This record gives sequence, C-alpha cells and structure tokens, in this order.
Amino acid sequence: MNNELSLSCELCPHRCSLGEGQTGYCGTRKHIDGQIKNISYGLVTSLAIDPIEKKPLYHFYPGHSILSWGSFGCNMKCPFCQNHEISQRGREMAQGYVSPEELVNMADKATREAGSIGVAFTYNEPLLGYEYLLEVAPLLRRAGQRVVLVTNGQLSRGPLMELLPYIDAMNIDLKVFSAEGYQGLGGDFDTVKGTIAQAVEMGVHVEITTLVVPTLNDDMAMMEAEAQWLAGLGQDIPLHLSRYFPRYKFQIPPTPITVLQQLQNTAKQYLKYVYLGNV
Ligand code: SF4
Repeated sequence: MNNELSLSCELCPHRCSLGEGQTGYCGTRKHIDGQIKNISYGLVTSLAIDPIEKKPLYHFYPGHSILSWGSFGCNMKCPFCQNHEISQRGREMAQGYVSPEELVNMADKATREAGSIGVAFTYNEPLLGYEYLLEVAPLLRRAGQRVVLVTNGQLSRGPLMELLPYIDAMNIDLKVFSAEGYQGLGGDFDTVKGTIAQAVEMGVHVEITTLVVPTLNDDMAMMEAEAQWLAGLGQDIPLHLSRYFPRYKFQIPPTPITVLQQLQNTAKQYLKYVYLGNV
C-alpha cells in the first residue's frame, strides 16, 4: 500500500489508515475516490417495534415501545457477540435503504399505531452510521420523537460532542472494567469511560449494561471498581448485569446465576439500581 494515498479515519479510536479501496476495521467506512465514505448510510438490516425495556432502558418511558433500527458493522470484535449476524457482516446483510425523511415518517406511523416514543438505533453499533445519525436525529427531534442509542461508546470526542445534543437516552455497554480487557475485545477503555462521563454531563439519560462473561469480567473486585466509578458520576445510574449464553465464537457454559447475584450485591453497595438481565 502506498502510504501517501492513505487517509486516516478519525471517527473512533482505531484511527484506521485506509488506502484507496480499503475498508476499515468496522466494515462500514471505505476509502473511495480520495474520500472516506460511510458505506452503511441509510442501509437497514432490522426494523422492529420493541418494548423499551428490551434495549435495556428501565428508567426511560417504562412500559412504552420504540421503533428499533439496525444496520451492519461494529468497531469491536467480541467473540461472544449476541448480534454477530449483523455486527460482524457487511453490506450483503442490508434489506434496503431508508432516507432520513422516510425514517421520520415511519417513526410517526409507529407512534400513531403502536404508541412508540421514538427511534432506538441498536442491534449493530449505531455510531458507525454517524453521518446518517447526525442528519436524522435533529429531524426526529423536530417531529417530537425521542432518539435513543444502544452503543459500545467507541466514538472519538469531537464527533461525540457534535452528536450528543440530539440524543435523549443511551444504553452504553461497559464490557469489562480494564484497559487490557478492552484491548482483547478490539476496543478502548478510556474512550468508553469518556463517552459515559460526557453523556451524563450533558444531561443525556444514561443506563449501563455489562454482559457478565465467565473469565472475562465475573471478578468481584472488578465489579466493585466499576460500580464505584459509575457512582462517582451518579449513584442513580442504572446498571444492567446481563447473563451471558454461549454465542458466536465463545462456547463456555452460561454465567451461573449465583455469580450474577453476588456481583449485583457488590454493585449495590455503590449504586441504587442494579438489575439482572437474561436470567
Ligand atoms: S470508524 Fe471504522 S474505519 Fe473509522 S477508525 Fe473506526 S474502525 Fe476504523
């Protein structure tokens, strides 16, 4: 590859250097004709109306439903990914193109017909649809819709600051509470912590999910450190401890419920709301 012709994508901490025709680590951004283009723009792989608790968000419009949008690609490579069919695949998974205006119309229809409160960008990593989000989020807001992200939080600070004013609620994955753990999953620990702290500071409703995977993050001292850090941002930030089941490339047995309960008790020493999921 001729480095002089490479461009650096600055959207997330990977900062991929892409030569002409190359696609980034996430599978959603490609160097085409001297520009980095988002090849997932407006492409949908899944569209459904879900209960908001499924995101999970327990303290944001509980009992309501939300139109849920998914595209493809992810900038992390978790071997236990629960959505690997779309997160670790490419454009071949797309079912079609939906323009920002069409999505606003769909959201309005979902509100009228099913009481949906807005649109959740979820299933794959939604921040990779950055240009689409930046266009559609203000339109949704103007139409009285709430904008929700279910995300790994791996976004550079500049783009994050530009996007957050249009976001109402986020469920952010905090996958493991260590830099080494994040490195092993293809992510960056400081970036996710920065995203969580910034979203809380800017008044976005934030809930956190940790998928508890045996041998990765089922350690009590690690959970104590995580809960302590979150409590420093706000003791009323809800934490969801989700039970792992064998998926994708990870086949060890599911997390024992007793371990989840012990972790919940540990986290509850610092946080007011700690929920168990997938149990
Ligand atoms: S968004 Fe994709 S292409 Fe850009 S730096 Fe991150 S992984 Fe690389």
